[in-house]
Amino acid sequence: MAEKKEVDARFKKFGTVSFTSLTKTNDFITKLEEGQVSGTKCKVCGMVFFPPRADCYSCFSSDMEWFNVTGTGKLVTYSKLQYAPVGFEGDLPYSIALLDYGTYKVFGRLASDVPETDVKIGMDMKAEPNRLPNGQINYVFHKA
Ligand SMILES: [Zn+2]
Repeated sequence: MAEKKEVDARFKKFGTVSFTSLTKTNDFITKLEEGQVSGTKCKVCGMVFFPPRADCYSCFSSDMEWFNVTGTGKLVTYSKLQYAPVGFEGDLPYSIALLDYGTYKVFGRLASDVPETDVKIGMDMKAEPNRLPNGQINYVFHKA
C-alpha cells in the first residue's frame, strides 16, 4: 500500500480565515511564528516581492531567497472597513492599509490598538506578526 504523501499546509494558519492552504511559500508562516514578517527576493534579477512569491514574474527564475521586512514603511493609504467579506464580519471595524518600504510595499491591516486620530498619511509604521484570538496568525501595522 502506498504511503500517504504529507501535505505542507502551514498557510491554513494565516489570517482570520485562510483561503490559501497550499503554496510554495509556507516558510512565511514559520517566520511569522518566529516573530518575523518576510518577503522573497529573486537571486537572478534582484526583484523583491511582498507577499512572497516562489517564482519571479520578471525573469521566470525560481531561485529565490527570503528577506526580512525590517525598519519602517511610510503609510501610503488606508481605509476603515464597515463591511467585511464572509468570515471576517467579527473583526469589524478594521482598517486595511499600504506601507511603502521603498523597494516594495506591504499591504495589511492597522493594529486594532492604533487610535484613528493618530493615523496620518506618510507616517512611519512597522509590520509585525500578530496572534489572533482563534489561534491563527497574521501581521499588522503599528506606529513606529
Ligand atoms: Zn527575477
